[in-house]
Amino acid sequence: MSSGNFDVVIVGAGIVGAACAKECSRVGLRVAVVDQDAAGSGATAAGMGHIVTMDDSDAQFALTRYSQTLWQELRSELPQDVEYEQCGTIWVAADDDEMKEVFRKRGYYSHHGVPVEVLNSAELERLEPNLRKGMAGGLLVPEDAVLYPPCAARFLIERAQSHGARLYFGAAVVKLGGGEVRLANGTLLSAPTVVNAAGTWATTLTPGISVKKRKGHLVITDRYPGFVRHQLVELGYLKSAHSVSADSVAFNVQPRQTGQLLIGSSRQYGSETQDVDSEILSRMVERAQHYLPSLANASAIRVWTGFRAATPDKLPLIGPWPPDSTVYLATGHEGLGITTSLGTAKLLAAQLTGGPPEIPAEPYLPLRMETLEHAHV
Ligand SMILES: Cc1cc2nc3c(=O)[nH]c(=O)nc-3n(C[C@H](O)[C@H](O)[C@H](O)COP(=O)(O)OP(=O)(O)OC[C@H]3O[C@@H](n4cnc5c(N)ncnc54)[C@H](O)[C@@H]3O)c2cc1C
Repeated sequence: MSSGNFDVVIVGAGIVGAACAKECSRVGLRVAVVDQDAAGSGATAAGMGHIVTMDDSDAQFALTRYSQTLWQELRSELPQDVEYEQCGTIWVAADDDEMKEVFRKRGYYSHHGVPVEVLNSAELERLEPNLRKGMAGGLLVPEDAVLYPPCAARFLIERAQSHGARLYFGAAVVKLGGGEVRLANGTLLSAPTVVNAAGTWATTLTPGISVKKRKGHLVITDRYPGFVRHQLVELGYLKSAHSVSADSVAFNVQPRQTGQLLIGSSRQYGSETQDVDSEILSRMVERAQHYLPSLANASAIRVWTGFRAATPDKLPLIGPWPPDSTVYLATGHEGLGITTSLGTAKLLAAQLTGGPPEIPAEPYLPLRMETLEHAHV
């Protein structure tokens, strides 16, 4: 069975594929979306949902901030179950050394027009009374937000559908390339462009992409409304996220609209199973209790793991894949794919329609992988 009449077939309906489907169909392209499961069921179902501006590199900043403003624009249209909440982030500085990073970050964000506020120890304690006493201070980034990723993905897919996108869900893709997508049930979809948005699975469908799985654990607690009021992240998180080899944990706690606390996070390479690693989990929970001592009295109700799609330079792959002119990539978003899904979709749609992108597309082009081939992930 063969089906054509599409301008683009998108493989993967995680938040990235869903955002791409919505944007491509909105600009008038005839879109098909294929997923072996349902919308938002892969890493998207495992993610924390922090919509965060990050500044590890200028390119990372550009994409995260751009995407954050796109979420803000979409905010009034998001249904309640997406639980979008602009609670802000506080980067917590434990000591004077970490306060230096607070001031550096303030300089960078302010220079680029992102509102921020430096907090001293007393101000931090007033905003977050459950934090350990005696922290040096922090940086408040009020425009950062949180949302519930699976419902956000479903919303984007529904938008795509309302713009005419066709869905092929519960259908595994066994092969893509040469303007074709072959499903396990024998269906052949053809289009001039095929987008591989299959997250960590992208490497199976397009061998040769430098994307590795980076495992993460999360814990969700029972309801403790008001226990924390902002997404709280230790500044040491940056060291953890930067580490390219060692397993790491960092204090990262998020208030959910339900009153629950989402506790993260860990990073591990080389672990290919979904199993909970009790050693990593204890380290992660101990870290959280170090910052929030009375968390020791809270009940955890669920623990899970997920896999981030990591590239060697920590930037996603968005754009044409040089070995096959019909294949475009939208993968490799590591721990920022919920945030950067909307910016990714805008960049991709501009590439497919020949329109000007609103931020430079070059830092994310897969073409750069040729020079990264020898980089160590
Ligand atoms: C613990 C953890 C915490 C995180 N926290 C955050 C956060 O706070 N903020 C943030 O911005 N990001 C966060 N992330 C990252 C974020 O979750 C991911 O970057 C994002 O979900 C990636 O989305 P995706 O659409 O690329 O991939 P996925 O969600 O994995 O979607 C890929 C889709 O492709 C489908 N697929 C795969 N192979 C095939 C095939 N052969 N045929 C058909 N379909 C196929 C899958 O079924 C899946 O639905 C976190 C990730 C983890 C693991």
